[in-house]
Amino acid sequence: MIPYGKHFLDQDDIDAVVDVLKNGALTQGPKVAEFERSIAKYTGAKFAVAVSSGTAALHLSCLVSGVNFGDKVVTSANTFVASANCALYVGAEPQVVDIDQATLNIDLNLLEKACEQHSSIGAIIPVHFAGSPCDMEYIRRIANKNKAFLIEDASHALGARYDNGHKVGNCEFSDLTVFSFHPVKGIASGEGGMITTNNSYLYKKLLLLRSHGICKGNFDLPGIGDNSDDELVNKKEGIENNELKLWYYEMQMLGYNYRITDIQAALAISQMKKIDMFLERRRDIVSRYDKAFKFCQNIQPTQIRSRDFSSHHLYVIRVKFKNIRLTRNQFMLKLREKGIGTQVHYIPIPMQPYYEAMGLSIGDYPVSKAIYEELLSIPIYYELTDEMQDFVISAILTLAE
Ligand SMILES: *Cc1c(COP(=O)(O)O)cnc(C)c1O
Repeated sequence: MIPYGKHFLDQDDIDAVVDVLKNGALTQGPKVAEFERSIAKYTGAKFAVAVSSGTAALHLSCLVSGVNFGDKVVTSANTFVASANCALYVGAEPQVVDIDQATLNIDLNLLEKACEQHSSIGAIIPVHFAGSPCDMEYIRRIANKNKAFLIEDASHALGARYDNGHKVGNCEFSDLTVFSFHPVKGIASGEGGMITTNNSYLYKKLLLLRSHGICKGNFDLPGIGDNSDDELVNKKEGIENNELKLWYYEMQMLGYNYRITDIQAALAISQMKKIDMFLERRRDIVSRYDKAFKFCQNIQPTQIRSRDFSSHHLYVIRVKFKNIRLTRNQFMLKLREKGIGTQVHYIPIPMQPYYEAMGLSIGDYPVSKAIYEELLSIPIYYELTDEMQDFVISAILTLAE
């Protein structure tokens, strides 16, 4: 079976995990910080906080964003549900905006309009769909105008670049950027997520929230460290002879257990050594697909303008199912009979029963609706060989003629 996406593991990855199992701490050891440094260095952000999933990263991002109960949090209609759910976790209201048919990302004009229509825009969460970066400079201006916090959902976009060539996640346009390391994403840690930022206040708060809001042995005493109020030991109870008591810990805010394990971090560090190799192969696969579908009327590649900047998490085509007289499900079934897996990214947020019950309706999202009916993600991953890809191409072209 050729799936639509798949992680790649080699002996180095296995050895890295086994080494932690044999010699390391299973969780809260040195691998987590090492993984954070590796992502901070790669993206160019000052700080990185590793957490248990991309969803946890989105939740913590919303928690530190200053979004208040009832505020709007604006995100794209064509994304994984987690991009909108995180707003609900903090009592905010997701404001879902239709997409642009050329980029498949949030429509910038509609985003601007949505922000004008509401007085309390708490945060904007643009999603770099399939690894194709949004115009962050533009979105930063909209966020500034509305005093909104800006969180990039870069779950698909590790290794992608903005128009200026800088890596996604350096947070030059946003307050925070979120990544996911689920096995189908850019690198795999099993489950895992990361938040990058250049803001030391947010960074410290995220570290606390990741682990119950508890400070333990890591506070500054009065007169030591940079002495910002939030990291001082609050109670005299913790201090004896001007030193922190050995056993003392202090819960300063309501946090969670969103820690990632050292086992996962070790795997992710090892995976990061291959990220450029992964990206290069994905780029090759994309250009071979682009060539193959160029003259097929019923197959239309998407997001072609961002080919040089995307991390190519997915290869998404639009298929004229009406012309070829097959439903999408029939098309997918015929490919599956040949051992080819495909998927649909995504069922638009407003079509999910949960969001429909909240009053959203796909009828208000004409672009997402029209594109959704034609979308298909076809196989792209590091280990997909030219031969396998040729097999996929010919199977698709045969069906689409
Ligand atoms: C995968 C994904 C998430 C959630 O990441 P997990 O690590 O699976 O929790 C969030 N947003 C988008 C766009 C994703 O694709």
